[in-house]
Amino acid sequence: MEKVVIIGSGCAGWTAALYAARANLQPLVLTGVQPGGLLTTTTIVENYPGFPEGVDGYELMTRMQKQAERFGARAQFGTVEAADLSKAPFVLTVDGEPVETRTVIVATGASHRHLGLESEHKLENKGVTYCATCDGALPMFRNHPLVVVGGGDSACEEATYLTRFGSVVHLVHRRHALRASKIMAERALSNPKIKPVWDSAVTEILDVNQDKVTGVRLKNLKTGAERTVDCAGVFVAIGHVPSTQIFKGAITMDENGYIQPQRGTMTNVPGVFVAGDCADHVYRQAITAAGMGCAAAIEAERYLAALNQ
Ligand code: NAP
Repeated sequence: MEKVVIIGSGCAGWTAALYAARANLQPLVLTGVQPGGLLTTTTIVENYPGFPEGVDGYELMTRMQKQAERFGARAQFGTVEAADLSKAPFVLTVDGEPVETRTVIVATGASHRHLGLESEHKLENKGVTYCATCDGALPMFRNHPLVVVGGGDSACEEATYLTRFGSVVHLVHRRHALRASKIMAERALSNPKIKPVWDSAVTEILDVNQDKVTGVRLKNLKTGAERTVDCAGVFVAIGHVPSTQIFKGAITMDENGYIQPQRGTMTNVPGVFVAGDCADHVYRQAITAAGMGCAAAIEAERYLAALNQ
């Protein structure tokens, strides 16, 4: 039986693993479908302390994993399909196999929010994407107009990155002011290849009949006017939804699915702790996720020590 199983391998997960490993608990990290988490899909991370020149997101996560493994953490590629937290030991079902554990640290992060359009769904991976770093360099996008949807840091970062490939990048936002941090917003808006489209919503992605992206239909939310903008790709960057579905009914969460810790990082289930974006809709930074991961591991260690007394 495991002492500590960490579900998720982003900043929160690997930092929890580092601390649990150094407490001699040999934690098992279940990576999920995207090992390294969301940071592996970003470009340069400029706000993680200790890297004055910035650090590549993928490299940062690889280093975190190596650091935790050096002290005995183990990684298992796999997805948790079900979690029985009704009694100890807890039983997780990982790719059909049961894993028994005395404590769980939920660090499942969040996944990309979708616009919810039928055409978006039908054209996913046919020009509609949720990750500029992963897909931006594809030949289908080179020297063509592109559309980025959203007004936060992700949208600004993606739009700026895509200016390397697209002929022009239309940044479509539903309001007239960006939500992004000042530095990211200024960088995007001062780029001559980025054309902001304010107060506008994408109502349809064209063209399902051709089975590829040829443009977007936009609606001005103030005037109601509609128009079409030609593009070869649509990059949706409108935030995230917490990856907590499998814990519904077992762990207390808010109406948006964010897990609500009860005391420190402990959830309503004694022995189940939480860290990172799946419990944080306020800060959502790599460093805050790492900090929560550290706290969750320390609390799991204390919980196990108290059980053995
Ligand atoms: P976010 O800050 O939640 O912004 C989401 C954006 O999408 C908002 O502008 C929002 O509009 C818009 N939006 C939401 N739902 C929409 C919908 N259905 N249709 C159209 N637009 C919609 O998300 P994020 O940009 O992914 O950032 C998440 C967190 O990661 C933030 O804390 C951010 O600071 C951090 N981050 C940091 C960096 C960096 O520092 N390098 C890079 C990326 C992300 P409204 O503005 O109207 O709400």
